[in-house]
Amino acid sequence: MMWIDRKLILENSFQNGEPEAKKAVHLLTDQDGQPVTVINQGGSSAILLVCEHASRRLPEKLGALGLDEEALTAHIAWDPGALAVSRLISESMDAALVQQNFSRLAYDCNRPPEAPDAMPEVSEIYEIPGNRDLSEEARQARVEAIYRPFEGALSREIDARAKAGRRTVIVTMHTFTPVYKGVARDVESRRAA
Ligand SMILES: [Zn+2]
Repeated sequence: MMWIDRKLILENSFQNGEPEAKKAVHLLTDQDGQPVTVINQGGSSAILLVCEHASRRLPEKLGALGLDEEALTAHIAWDPGALAVSRLISESMDAALVQQNFSRLAYDCNRPPEAPDAMPEVSEIYEIPGNRDLSEEARQARVEAIYRPFEGALSREIDARAKAGRRTVIVTMHTFTPVYKGVARDVESRRAA
């Protein structure tokens, strides 16, 4: 397996212009839909909402990443409730919202491509078999399919507002798990008390 990956990297690096092999690795299919959605584009609020962990959906080609249902529905896959709250705020404040449509287990859009945990091998107490020892091609395919479109949509939104002379306050929306690595977190327990 390893030598095939190296061969592909080699071929990539020797091509002029856009590498053909890179183009050929498409992660998303038509059934997967778009990786990013912009809601209320051009909304009048200065606030620009960003929800990187909106979804726990995985691209079909990645299967279940070797995880069971419990892990796939846990907070390691997404921020439960973050999208619902984002949409309510978007509507009530007339604020634009940029949302990511795939699980952070496929690619964590809160991380740049060079971050090792952009495609985590371990998240909290869960090992992610489908993210173990990813080849450069596999990593690149996820960056191109998921991160770049998200980054692009967000940049376009920010640029358009700047061009129109509008003020932008970026607010990223996250939710937190009350139990982390098996331990109840102080901040939540105090609030509940
Ligand atoms: Zn989050």
